[in-house]
Amino acid sequence: MKTAVVCGAGGFIGGHLVERLKSEGYWVRGVDIKRPEFRKTAADEFLKLDLRIPRNCERAVKLEDGKPADEVYQLAADMGGMGFIHSAECEIMHNSMLINVHMTDAAARAGVGRYFFSSSVCVYRDMKPGEPEMTEAEAVPANPDNEYGWEKLYSERMAQAYGRRYGMKVRIARFQNCYGPYGTWRGGREKAPAALCRKVALAPDGGAVEIWGDGSAIRSYTYVADMVDGIRRLMDSDLEGAANIGCPQYVSVLELLQCVADVAGKRITAKTVPGPVGVQSRNFSNARIYSIGWKSQYDLRRGIEETYPWIAEQVRQALKRGETV
Ligand code: NAD
Repeated sequence: MKTAVVCGAGGFIGGHLVERLKSEGYWVRGVDIKRPEFRKTAADEFLKLDLRIPRNCERAVKLEDGKPADEVYQLAADMGGMGFIHSAECEIMHNSMLINVHMTDAAARAGVGRYFFSSSVCVYRDMKPGEPEMTEAEAVPANPDNEYGWEKLYSERMAQAYGRRYGMKVRIARFQNCYGPYGTWRGGREKAPAALCRKVALAPDGGAVEIWGDGSAIRSYTYVADMVDGIRRLMDSDLEGAANIGCPQYVSVLELLQCVADVAGKRITAKTVPGPVGVQSRNFSNARIYSIGWKSQYDLRRGIEETYPWIAEQVRQALKRGETV
């Protein structure tokens, strides 16, 4: 039986990845500083560890018999949506960097065979709407829009350096925005799709929903089942170097809001307010991940149809408990 360690298994994508690995017959250890918030973990074993600490990383990658896990998936990060990325620059650079410094070192020294690192399209510079697709190589010369992207870029290079020195097969995905059920939907760390689902769930039919900026910023949103499929295909492949993973459907924030409103069956108008918007546009090549047979199966409408009902139910239950949402 193949063994896998998923770091960040208490979080959104890590939780879905654990489920996928279990469905493929893996023995899975989940590791995180916290347990999953919205459901029981599917992992065979769950270790609550702070991965900023070197000895915890050593413990995470070694199994009971002292042997290393076959595969390590590193998804632990101090992380959130645009509001968090702009207000918590120091925490992101400090905490996520420490996690990656120590995890990469511990995995390589323990003799882990395959190491997955979750990077982000935040490593790229800002783009103008309509600019041609950027390839992975065009992340350099680097000019990420935020410190989160700089941390990812450095951690990518560190993982590759350790891969070369220790013969560890390193696989790196640069995720586009990912969304789906069982992700953070309130509290300041949620990303745009979850925030808009929550706001629409709270709004009356015919009401208005606040969005940051003028709503013209362009992004693509990838449904979590597609993302996890990309992670698994990449890990099993021979693809060296970073690979973008994203749905090729690009939409503005206003179009995202309209899609959520349609799924909710509500007439909603946007009220634009000042707030952190991030880059103006995104457009990336998926040629590398397509070359190993991956293609997104969910367009935005279908993904929101899976996500909105879950968030609307969380909102309903929270209101029933008397919480402010
Ligand atoms: P998430 O916040 O839901 O999960 C990250 C997990 O890391 C959390 O459960 C958190 O508790 C854990 N963590 C934080 N500090 C830790 C520590 N010191 N020790 C152990 N665990 C710690 O985020 P996610 O959306 O599941 O993202 C997973 C990975 O994918 C991250 O590396 C993130 O940067 C990357 N990514 C996500 C997206 C997205 O849209 N969700 C986009 C690009 C990249």
